Amino acid sequence: ESDNPKGYAPISLGFEDFFRRRIYHDAKDLFGRPIASAPDAWFDVVERHSDDGNKTLQCTTKTSRCLNLGSYNYLGFAAADEYCTPRVIESLKKYSASTCSARVDGGNTKLHTELEELVARFVGKPAAIVFGMGYVTNSAIIPVLIGEGGLIVSDSLNHVSIVNGARGSGATVQVFQHNNPGHLEDVLREQIAGGQPHKNRPWKRIIVIIEGIYSMEGVACSLPEIMAVCKKYKVYTYLDEAHSIGVVGKTGRGVCELLGVNPADVDIMMGTFTKSFGSCGGYIAASKEIIDHLRHACPAHIYGTSMSPPAVQQVISVIKVVLGEDGSNRGANKLAKIRENSDFFRSELQKLGFEVLGDNDSPIMPIMIYSLTKMAVFSRECMRQNVAVVVIGFPATPLLLARARICISASQSREDLIRGLEVISKVGDLVGIKYFRVEQDKA
Ligand code: PMP
Repeated sequence: ESDNPKGYAPISLGFEDFFRRRIYHDAKDLFGRPIASAPDAWFDVVERHSDDGNKTLQCTTKTSRCLNLGSYNYLGFAAADEYCTPRVIESLKKYSASTCSARVDGGNTKLHTELEELVARFVGKPAAIVFGMGYVTNSAIIPVLIGEGGLIVSDSLNHVSIVNGARGSGATVQVFQHNNPGHLEDVLREQIAGGQPHKNRPWKRIIVIIEGIYSMEGVACSLPEIMAVCKKYKVYTYLDEAHSIGVVGKTGRGVCELLGVNPADVDIMMGTFTKSFGSCGGYIAASKEIIDHLRHACPAHIYGTSMSPPAVQQVISVIKVVLGEDGSNRGANKLAKIRENSDFFRSELQKLGFEVLGDNDSPIMPIMIYSLTKMAVFSRECMRQNVAVVVIGFPATPLLLARARICISASQSREDLIRGLEVISKVGDLVGIKYFRVEQDKA
């Protein structure tokens, strides 16, 4: 910037913003071209096509469609759907796009109540409450559940909405090593005097917060082991299922179903509607007492406008399809398809020599790139060849752990996936990120 010739961060910018500018905007790629002007999947997407299951994107720099390998549209419901779309249109006509009111001020409709009952039934809890945004669900609910004098024990890779909710609550926050039940136990033992689960607890309340599938890693949490620790120390559990609800488990009911844990044992289940359900909003499902408390004590519920009715109807319709209550087996087929697509794509990437993170069956599969400049080139070159991938670096990941995050959808065909693999393979060679190739060649 001309008024800042030395490139010092202006005072209004934090370190992360400064870093982002220096690395992503001022830096040159491997070929000496400025990264900021490179067309890639971060900034240039302006249009979507829902007629093909949102599996393509249109970008400003392109007139042709790009295969979208970065969307959370896991089941393909972010698209015109024979069961959901007519119902959503009807709800739009009947209720309009907004209630323009909070739930307690006339913003409650039959749809909101129906959705809460359906979500509770779907996830296996007695009651649920819904909000207009997933992010807000975490950041607004956590401070209602716990405050000063309380202890939050949070997985080190928890989403920023959890981090902000925890920070804003006034509770003490301790972080445990990602998905490590042993370290969680160490933290709890240290925080509870003499390791005595019930006696002399110095905390008014303790909540352990974890996610179902971690969005930067693609791994499922070690839920049975973590639950065992929480049970031993008699602490509350809060599980964010943004990336697992509707996707994993035999009938799409998330990590409890996947890992054989009784949902009754998890105290607070949270999820978002922006992934599998192709909508927007979030939920908390818990005991009737907890949900009643939230209805009376959560400012976001009392003072915030209720979830948009067509968005509510979309989620109701999707859950019905997933449960087979639309009278078809499309839900079961979509669940089978997302698994098949994910397993195929992951194993093909591994065969090509990429370092791929995540569990089998997880639709999220990060490809490790490590270098930030390679990351930018990878994204841009894929985009040039009509494949849109999302790449992620600092501050969303540690500085040296940049990656591309592939998200697979049930709406993709085998041909789509093969085309995606061909492009990723070519670009992987160009950028030099097939880190496991050498060993494979030797073997
Ligand atoms: N929790 C997790 C784990 C997430 O990954 C996200 C966003 N991807 C959210 C909460 C926020 O949800 P939303 O995007 O629906 O606001």
